[in-house]
Amino acid sequence: MKTQGWLFDLYPAKRGMVLWWITEAGERLRLEDPFTPAFYAEGRPRDLRPLIRELEAKPSIAGLEWVKRWDLVSREQVEVLQIALADLNQYPVLPDRLFLEHPRVLFWNCGIHLAQLYCYERQLFPLAFCTIEHEDGILQRVECRDDPWALEYALPPLRIMELKGTGPAGRFSRRLSTLQVTVEGETYELCQGREVELLHAFTGLLERHDPDVLMTKDGDAFVLPTLLWLAKRQGVALPLDREPVLRTPPRAGRSFFTYGRVVYMTPPFLLHGRWHIDLHNSFIYHDGELPGLLEIARVAKVPVQRQARLSTGVAITSMQMDEATRMGALIPWKKAEVEEAKTLNELLTVDKGGMVYLPPMGLHEHVAEIDFASMYPALMVAYNISPETVNCACCPRGAVPEAGYSLCERREGLVPRVLRPLLDKRLRYKALKKANEGETRRRYDLLQAALRWCLLVSFGYLGYKNARWGQIMAHESVTSLGREMLLRARTIAEAYGFRAIHAIVDSIYLQKPGLSVAELEALCREIEEATKIPIAVEGIYRWIVFCPSRETPALTVPNRFYGVFQHGEQKVRGLELRRHDTAPRIATAQQEMLDCLARAESAAEFMARVPEALEILRRHVEAIRGGRVPLEDLVITRTLSKEPMQYVREDAGAIAAKTLARAGVELHPGQQIDYLILDRKAKVKGDRARPAVLLTGDESYDTKTYEELLVRAAETLLGPVGWPAGRLQSWLATP
Ligand SMILES: [Zn+2]
Repeated sequence: MKTQGWLFDLYPAKRGMVLWWITEAGERLRLEDPFTPAFYAEGRPRDLRPLIRELEAKPSIAGLEWVKRWDLVSREQVEVLQIALADLNQYPVLPDRLFLEHPRVLFWNCGIHLAQLYCYERQLFPLAFCTIEHEDGILQRVECRDDPWALEYALPPLRIMELKGTGPAGRFSRRLSTLQVTVEGETYELCQGREVELLHAFTGLLERHDPDVLMTKDGDAFVLPTLLWLAKRQGVALPLDREPVLRTPPRAGRSFFTYGRVVYMTPPFLLHGRWHIDLHNSFIYHDGELPGLLEIARVAKVPVQRQARLSTGVAITSMQMDEATRMGALIPWKKAEVEEAKTLNELLTVDKGGMVYLPPMGLHEHVAEIDFASMYPALMVAYNISPETVNCACCPRGAVPEAGYSLCERREGLVPRVLRPLLDKRLRYKALKKANEGETRRRYDLLQAALRWCLLVSFGYLGYKNARWGQIMAHESVTSLGREMLLRARTIAEAYGFRAIHAIVDSIYLQKPGLSVAELEALCREIEEATKIPIAVEGIYRWIVFCPSRETPALTVPNRFYGVFQHGEQKVRGLELRRHDTAPRIATAQQEMLDCLARAESAAEFMARVPEALEILRRHVEAIRGGRVPLEDLVITRTLSKEPMQYVREDAGAIAAKTLARAGVELHPGQQIDYLILDRKAKVKGDRARPAVLLTGDESYDTKTYEELLVRAAETLLGPVGWPAGRLQSWLATP
């Protein structure tokens, strides 16, 4: 049988990979492809001999063979023992055991996700369009007719089913009260009359529509495990997967510390032959939505469900392993591979390590922003920065300012080889975004944003000792060259008569009365010449306001500002309205004030609009004082930094967490809770704040506290132009 279609899903079985295809005709096709993954052992003959004897006796070994592979660091070909496995289940566990028993042997290419390893070897990738030949459920031949670097590609039409569950204690429930199912434009409300009826109704819908994707919010922690428990209780089969699999009860999640904060990761509820995407447990989805996620899965060769739950660091590592495989190079084994979650903003603040000026506080005009496009990755490519190129033996020292390291000029390193096409693709998407409008423009924006995120982590991973190719000298070389390039850019800008008022990571803010786009373009070309890094005009601001630090109000902070570009687009960093722990009503009020100010075309108009913005504040303050704001608009979200009972200082969030814990909800550091402040001064602690899931709707909120929060948000906007909190309060006190 010969047909054409997209590779939809893939996962290992005992003897090979299971591949799910969506054919052009719309068929969902399950095929198996025999596969023998291999890892490598390197060592002295007398250390390897006992290993070989042991392996020869194992039926799970498909073959042992001496092969030559490149060692990237020493740049030499080495002879290694290739250990091919007949039983795929052994691949994740056998190296661990061998490592303990043979401490003098060096193992390579271990601990790689099998679906990815398969993709590297076969040069396939998720959602690749292929011509396939198959017989009796076995893949005979595959010809990939797709390219992960193609800008335009067709995707299979996916059948998406959205699930929304509610429970008696919200997402902390172990029971479902209702289940809302949306599929092919229809929404079904399944109510918990009798559990068994809800289950039958749901499985009926699953079988009738056979969706490719289950889209949930909190499906990993709540909706899917709860359905599974229900099915077990009722003895009903639940065909969540496209093929029968034995499911064990979901594991507990884990909390871990990363980049200065605690993160809780719910164990993923992954499906076979079908995707489950949990919007509350996906790091890429927020920034790139589905097009961005699929784009990363394609270029990184990481299965979609897996990539949905992991940071783009996994994507970058995967691209490096793929490139190493193509080069015939060995892949180092890192047992503590990092798979943590990080948002774009955290990365921006954590990984800056570059030069930062504190901007002048207040309102400014005649300001333009020019941005180095993905400065750090661009540096790695332009200057060939990679673990194996820093301080190579063949090139002169001194290429890196300050540190004085050499950077190889003779051979391109692994990191630049991986980043070059990625940078190029992102720039092309950015150009397409600029050239288009509406939905098309939005799609290109999502794609470039997803790639930007991959590029961003590439720098963090270079300095991470647990990354497969992390090395601190390479990391230092990047920050050092980054500072150098910003200095060069600044010097050139000053020669053009600009004043550099602010710089952060890869953006420079320049001020000059009467500045023009043409002049800025000329400046950018000259900077590009001098730095080898692409730089472009982000825009000219009608006005921009730099805000003070919350901790030290006399100083500004690098990433707390708001402004409006000439074409009307707002740019906002670090305001309350962008923070997850801001109550929705406070965020709305701040956004309305900002929208009012944003209509100003100049600094003078801005000041003229302040009274109108103040009236907006008054309106919201009065609604809060009058107790008229719906409770759900005042709910505050908090990420727990410790176990609930470990909180000693009992602020509202800690009280709410303890109340939940006492109600039997299992909470861990890194998890989020929502709560309402009822009365900050109440005698009984439990009356001060209440978890949102336990609200009955009859509660009243703490008007004073919420008014304070509102005034603080207004102060962030207007404080820099002469309206600090004290003045706002006295203005509010006079009718
Ligand atoms: Zn060299």
